[in-house]
Amino acid sequence: MTAGLTDGVTWHPPSDDASPARVTRLFTASFGGDPAGVWSAPGRVNLIGEHVDYAGGVCLPFALPQRTWAAVRPRSDGQLRVVSGQLDEPWSGPADEVRPGHPAGWAAYLAGTAWALDAAGLLGRHAFGGVDVAVHSEVPVGAGLSSSAALECALGVALLDLFGGGAGQPGSPAREGLARAGVRAENEIALASTGGMDQAIAVHAEAGRCMRLDCHTFEVVQLPLRLSGVDAATGLTLVVVNTNAPHRLVDSEYADRRAAVERATALLGVPALGMLDSVEAAWAGLAEAGERDPVLRKRVRHVITESARARAAAELLAADRVAELGPLLDASHTSLRDDYALSCPELESAVEAAKLAGALGARLVGGGFGGSIIALVTSSTVPAVVTEVRAAAAKRGLTEPSFLIAEPSSAAGRW
Ligand code: ADP
Ligand code: MG
Repeated sequence: MTAGLTDGVTWHPPSDDASPARVTRLFTASFGGDPAGVWSAPGRVNLIGEHVDYAGGVCLPFALPQRTWAAVRPRSDGQLRVVSGQLDEPWSGPADEVRPGHPAGWAAYLAGTAWALDAAGLLGRHAFGGVDVAVHSEVPVGAGLSSSAALECALGVALLDLFGGGAGQPGSPAREGLARAGVRAENEIALASTGGMDQAIAVHAEAGRCMRLDCHTFEVVQLPLRLSGVDAATGLTLVVVNTNAPHRLVDSEYADRRAAVERATALLGVPALGMLDSVEAAWAGLAEAGERDPVLRKRVRHVITESARARAAAELLAADRVAELGPLLDASHTSLRDDYALSCPELESAVEAAKLAGALGARLVGGGFGGSIIALVTSSTVPAVVTEVRAAAAKRGLTEPSFLIAEPSSAAGRW
C-alpha cells in the first residue's frame, strides 16, 4: 500500500500471509516436521502517556499492524529450543534451568515467558514438557515499538493454548496472567526493566481502538481511534518514524528515571505519582520532606503533567476529536525532552521536520535516546512529512529513518 508513495523510502510493511508461511519454513528448516500451530502478537505504539506506567499514571497504547509470529510444537522432554529469523543465535536448554540472567541474550524473553507462565500455574500441573519455537518479527527490533513484548506474548498465547487447555484465546482470564508473565520474563530473566504497558496492550488490544490503561488501578477502557490509511485522500494518519538510531544508554537512563519516581513517591508518601494532579503541591511536599533537587522536581513534573495529558487525550478520543490531539503530542515531546531528558539528535530532527512539513503534532515514543517518533498528520500531507523527515536526517548526516503507518490492530492470538 505504501510502496511508491515516496521513492526510496523504507516502509515496515503491515502483516500479510507471507509471515506465517515464513515462520513455518524457518521452523521446519530448524527442527524438521511441522509446528502444532502458528501464533502472533502485535507491536505497539503509545499515543501518549509516556514513562508513566511505572509511576501508576495513565497511558494510551494501541497495537500496530506489525506482528511477531511464533511457530510452536510441544515437546515432552523438558527442553526449550528457540530460533529467530532476525538473529542468528539459536538457543536450547532445559526449561527447569531458566533463572535470572540465564539464558543470556534474546532467548531470555521466550524462556522467561515459559518459566513465568509455569510458575503461575497456567500451563497445567506437571504438563509443561518443553517446546520448539521459531519466531519471525515484522515489528522492528529495538525501535521502541515493543518487539520484546510481542515476542513474549506470541509464545505465551501458544503455550496457554497448547498446555493450558486453550486458555490463550481472547476473553480467557489467563491472558491477564500472560501479561504479568511477560513482565516477569523481562524484569527477572532478561534483566531488562519494563513497566507493564507493553504486555497489557499485546494481550488486550482491539482493532480500531486505543486502550486507556490506568497503571495504578489497572482499569482498562477501550476508546475509538479512527484513522485513515495512507492511501486516503482525507482524514488523519499516524505516521511512525523509526530513526534507526543505535540504542544508547537506554537501560541505565530508564533505571535512573524509575529510581527518581520511586524516591519522589516515597518522600511524598503517596500510592502513585501518576495519580497526583498538582505539580505545585508535589513540589511543596518534596520541599517539606527536605528535598529540593531541581532534577527530581523536573522528573515529577513530567510524570504529573504527562498523566494529565493522557487523561485529556482519552477524553478527546471518547468524543471522536482525534484532530485536536496535536498540541498534547507536542507538549508531551517537550516534557520528555526537557523534564525527562530523553531526546537525542535523531529524535529532534524527526520531530522538527515532521512539524515543519505540517504535522499536527509529533513526539518521541518509547524509552528515548533513539527509537521512534509518532506524528499525527492529515492524510494528504503524509508524503510531505516523509520527504521532509528523510531530508532532515540526510542533511544532518544521521542514519536513514524508516516508516510505518500505525492503524490500531488486534491482540495476540492464534493465526
Ligand atoms: P523493543 O521492545 O522496543 O523492540 P527492547 O530492547 O525492549 O526493544 O527489546 C528488544 C530485544 O528483544 C532485542 O534486543 C532482542 O533481545 C529481543 N527480540 C525482539 N524481537 C526479536 C526477534 N524477532 N528475534 C530475536 N530477538 C528479538
Ligand atoms: Mg521492549
